Amino acid sequence: MRYMDYIRQDKLPTYWCAGCGYGQVMHAMARAFEKLDFSLENTVIVSGIGCWGGVDAFFRVNAFHGTHGRALPVATGIKLANPGLDVIVVMGDGDGVTIGGNHFIHAARRNVDLTAIVCNNYNYGMTGGQYSSTTPPDSVTATSRYGHIEESFDICQLAQATGASFVARSLSENVFQTMDLIVQGARKKGFSMIEVLSPCPTYYGRNNAMKAPAELYRQLKRLAVPIEAADRMSQEQLMGKLLTGVLTNRECVDYGTKYRELLEKAQRGKED
Ligand code: SF4
Repeated sequence: MRYMDYIRQDKLPTYWCAGCGYGQVMHAMARAFEKLDFSLENTVIVSGIGCWGGVDAFFRVNAFHGTHGRALPVATGIKLANPGLDVIVVMGDGDGVTIGGNHFIHAARRNVDLTAIVCNNYNYGMTGGQYSSTTPPDSVTATSRYGHIEESFDICQLAQATGASFVARSLSENVFQTMDLIVQGARKKGFSMIEVLSPCPTYYGRNNAMKAPAELYRQLKRLAVPIEAADRMSQEQLMGKLLTGVLTNRECVDYGTKYRELLEKAQRGKED
């Protein structure tokens, strides 16, 4: 199948605002599905709530649209019940690591065989631009009109610290890099997390003196450093930067495999 065959073209155009990065990430997902030779029957997109959470409506594969922050437990159940399915979990920063933060750390800790695509736009776009756990300090949002006083999560560091097998980051505008990272993550056994920095010009940009979408894209580009270039930079130069590319790729037995081994052991014990 070609990548456009995965898209429900009768549903286009999408509802996302002009300049939003989500269309680019959807494009990267469809291209990754083509590379992975995913079938419509065997693929499931599991989503939560938020502007990005609605991406499943544009795909022809199976979908489960869950509640806010709960995409990962639903996806875990689907994968354990039918390990043959390719399960892709789509979450935003609010959905994935703020409201859903508890599920995120435990899915990574258990190393469930899922591919999570977390689009980080630094705020809750769908509900009007409130701050999330990834909103950078001092940012202006709907709920921090005089500047945000909390420190923010680094989603990749969170996934690394809690045990994910595969951790990577890209920018939404780098469609082919995002595609490649999704392909690598989906081929990896265990919990794969790909963070995509995706601009929300409507709220985060406007609230932070970046009225034109291009200004927000330039700002994200200034922050991003490819992992290969980081070796040649000093600690001072890397301060405040966000590394892109594959940050973790480790071998570790996934939860489903351990779970099935345990079931067999229990079954043998019953028979003895
Ligand atoms: Fe994208 Fe922000 Fe618009 Fe939501 S509100 S569609 S995140 S630009």
